Amino acid sequence: MKLLRPSLPTLRSPLRRLEHLPPGVVVPRLRGSKLQQMRRRLIVRDGYRCQCDMCEAGGAPRPITLATMELDHIVQVADGGTNDPSNLRCLHIECHARVSAAQRARSALAGGEAARPGG
Ligand SMILES: [Zn+2]
Repeated sequence: MKLLRPSLPTLRSPLRRLEHLPPGVVVPRLRGSKLQQMRRRLIVRDGYRCQCDMCEAGGAPRPITLATMELDHIVQVADGGTNDPSNLRCLHIECHARVSAAQRARSALAGGEAARPGG
């Protein structure tokens, strides 16, 4: 008996981890049920712990909940970061505000163009 294997080419796009996109490519912000799904997924991945440097340095970071956390883009969207989980982390709301302010300040120093409100 002869097995006929269909020799269809598998059109699987390579799963590249795009953490940086070329300038000019706009990543839509996560919102709605997609955002809520991602929050639930990543809070589990991050062990209900704030991932910011200060909380981690403290040894025993205060636990976060879905009500007290926000998703942070490690590489800002304005700088070409994506919504891939590898580019997202869970932070306390207040830690997120502090980290974002620092990122904006750095971006402004780095060139100005990337600094825009709401990042
Ligand atoms: Zn923190």
